[in-house]
Amino acid sequence: MSERTSYAAQPDLHADCGSCFGLCCVALPFSRSSDFPVNKSAGTPCGNLQEDFRCGIHQRLRDTGYNGCTVFDCFGAGQKVSQVTFKGVSWREEPGSARAMYEVFPVVRRLHELLKYLAQALDLPAAGPVHPELRRAYERLDALTHDPVETLLAADADALRGEVNPLLLRASELVRAAVPGRKKDHRGADLMGSRLRGAKLRGASLRGALLVAADLSGSDLRDADLIGADMRDTDLRGADLRGALFLTQAQLNAARGDARTKVPQELNHPSHWAA
Ligand code: SF4
Repeated sequence: MSERTSYAAQPDLHADCGSCFGLCCVALPFSRSSDFPVNKSAGTPCGNLQEDFRCGIHQRLRDTGYNGCTVFDCFGAGQKVSQVTFKGVSWREEPGSARAMYEVFPVVRRLHELLKYLAQALDLPAAGPVHPELRRAYERLDALTHDPVETLLAADADALRGEVNPLLLRASELVRAAVPGRKKDHRGADLMGSRLRGAKLRGASLRGALLVAADLSGSDLRDADLIGADMRDTDLRGADLRGALFLTQAQLNAARGDARTKVPQELNHPSHWAA
């Protein structure tokens, strides 16, 4: 681990659809809504899933009403379950393993999400005092994701999250303590539809905040903690999110932004954002 330059950048924590048996497109259910044009039950392959496990409408997901697919991130759980847990044998080749594969996928996804947050915290120099504990938690969880399917199905993801959360919170506090000025605390706040245009939220806590359709255009969100914030349709046009903590690509994909929006170095401008 000492040679590692970035924990969060490692391929294991990024979805590699080419190494996955289309698990998110089979294992998970979805309902007809603004995110999906049809209903699908868990364990039923989506009608757009091809024989090679690729999506037949990948370039047209938003145009065809499959917005929900563009905001989903498995954090690398798909290839882990496909290639490690089930050793490269797909549910098509071995239908008898399908049910266990579909059941274990959401479990491993939750573990990989925690690993991603731990990795992000390990990349923060200001969180150094808590790095030894973060590293131990990371290595323990990572080892668990390599365990057999029976062990994974018996894992208590809620309890593991409860153990990891205080470490992430401590890392967040250490980083935000270095930000000058008074930091706002909107942890868990219901800010749905709020008008926060141009808000000074540098170093703020927005952990688990409901930001659906909130107007955060032109706001300063540098170094703000956005872990678990619901950012569906949040207006981020012209906002500055550099250094935002625990922000994921899926959160950005769910929001609205433009060419002026500044995002953390490791994330990308979603293709649907206006120029
Ligand atoms: S539309 Fe494509 S990405 Fe979405 S579930 Fe179906 S196959 Fe998967």
